[in-house]
Amino acid sequence: MAEDLILFVGDALAKYGFPAGHPLGVDRQAAFWSAAQQQNLHRRVTVTDPRTATRSELERFHTAQHVDWVESRSHAGEGYLDSGDTPAFPGVFDAGAAVAGTALEGLERIMAGQAAKTFQPIGGLHHARRGQSAGFCVFNDLGVVIDTLRSQFGVEQIAYVDIDVHHGDGIYYSYETDPGLCIVDIHESGHFLYPGTGHADERGRGAAVGTKLNLPLDPGAGDRDFFAAWERGLAHLRAQAPKFILLQCGADSLAGDPLADLRLTPAAHGRVARDLARLANESADGRMMVFGGGGYDLGNLAAGWTRVLEEVLEAG
Ligand SMILES: [Zn+2]
Repeated sequence: MAEDLILFVGDALAKYGFPAGHPLGVDRQAAFWSAAQQQNLHRRVTVTDPRTATRSELERFHTAQHVDWVESRSHAGEGYLDSGDTPAFPGVFDAGAAVAGTALEGLERIMAGQAAKTFQPIGGLHHARRGQSAGFCVFNDLGVVIDTLRSQFGVEQIAYVDIDVHHGDGIYYSYETDPGLCIVDIHESGHFLYPGTGHADERGRGAAVGTKLNLPLDPGAGDRDFFAAWERGLAHLRAQAPKFILLQCGADSLAGDPLADLRLTPAAHGRVARDLARLANESADGRMMVFGGGGYDLGNLAAGWTRVLEEVLEAG
């Protein structure tokens, strides 16, 4: 069964982290990987190296101006890519392109039948917009995958599930009028947390009204509140019968994250992973990609992400 799930780890992904004291550092992949090895999960997957996206691959989602901007800031090696959350550093272009390229490598391997599912712990950069970086996200690997599914593989009916504590605004607003992208996004309410969006009345626009479900939770919410929201989310997903599933399982929604205020346990992440893997097996030929997303307590991200990986493996 080892060939059924590809796990992406490697130096190029580890470098996706910001300098000195930034909450998203370069130590996150190692924290996950060491926990995965302790739990023997590495023996149950095919470990695969990252690759770098080309400029034209990035431009499937991003504007050429944005790609140019990141490249110029990467050469300058200082300042910010946005208004103050996402620092530039020497090589930031390559680090961002490695996250997006690795996501594409996973997608291509799934579509070639080499695996049904992938797990990419360093990825799921859901705040980046087509024309700008935001919220620690340089390039939006998820958007690059979605646009590649449409343009290169003709897959229209896609489900995007986001349980990161922050609303996935870079995906929501890029596809707000797109009826083929079904979204379920459970997050801490935008009244209390960055990016301030993802309210319950944001259900898509135009032809896409009703295809998106934003389920904000109040600060302090725990597993009981989460599971009530997830029941609604899962029913919404089942009704859409997606042909491909993407999960962004940010560990910053777990209790004790330094940047946010939800109190979930890894059981929440595990339940979503298991239910989605089963739905993928029923409706999408098993095809599912999982991205680690946020998470700024290393113990939490190790616990949350290994739980997700184990549940996806158990679902087969
Ligand atoms: Zn987050």
